[in-house]
Amino acid sequence: MESGYRGRIAPTPTGYMHRGHARTFLTAQERARVEGGELILRVEDLDRDRCKSEFEDALAEDLKWAGLDWDEGPDIGGSCGPYRQSERLALYQDALERIRLQRTAFPCRCSRKDLREATQAPHDEGGELIYPGFCRDRPYLLEAGQSVFEVNWRLRVPAGETVAFEDGNLGPQAFVAGQDFGDFVIWRKDGIPSYELAVVVDDIAMGITEVVRGEDLLLSTARQLLIYRSLGAEPPAFFHCPLVRDETGRRLAKRDNALSLRELRRGGASADDL
Ligand code: GLU
Repeated sequence: MESGYRGRIAPTPTGYMHRGHARTFLTAQERARVEGGELILRVEDLDRDRCKSEFEDALAEDLKWAGLDWDEGPDIGGSCGPYRQSERLALYQDALERIRLQRTAFPCRCSRKDLREATQAPHDEGGELIYPGFCRDRPYLLEAGQSVFEVNWRLRVPAGETVAFEDGNLGPQAFVAGQDFGDFVIWRKDGIPSYELAVVVDDIAMGITEVVRGEDLLLSTARQLLIYRSLGAEPPAFFHCPLVRDETGRRLAKRDNALSLRELRRGGASADDL
């Protein structure tokens, strides 16, 4: 019998998968199995400059090698596809329109340089840069022929509000809007949604009931809860996994090719060694 649980694995093909990804994805698979549910593979390939088809091919191969199996994905299909974000633009545009109608987003013309200069205080070092609010209440006139999808949009966060959620793995979490994170970009003027908007739209459209991902995204989850609210949608449950670190305590990154699944396999490791 189907349990109604729907989980997903959502890799970004900008490099080869490493053990950290495998661990998160295997946890996601485990959660779906334990719950008697389904697992969906979604390829997060919106960044056209950095995503490469060779990495997407490698991804499918590495996932299979690591023992992952999914019920819906680019190679299998299902009723909530397509399963590549680059093929789902109309959904994201529709969501931006709905958020705009709620007036919870504002157009922003600040350049990176403006923001760097405005937030150069030493206490910002290494931390989250909070948007200083320049465009929050500033009128914005579209140029002739310019569409709303050619503008940066930020979500207006309820400053001072605590965004809290119960994490299935890490317990209660709380972040303060305007303090832990500021008004964040949901749409980029090059015509694509930010990661935050795209995953929320997809997790809703794909009927995901639990999101399993790395704990580096805890703050993103707080931001995303505000997007769910703005879209009038019920958020899924969340389960954040600890990050895998190397011997020096640094988290694994895609550029560390030596630790990629490819290299492990080449070195004669088996999926069980993972
Ligand atoms: N594509 C994102 C990543 O690779 C997925 C994050 C998520 O699970 O929401 O980090």
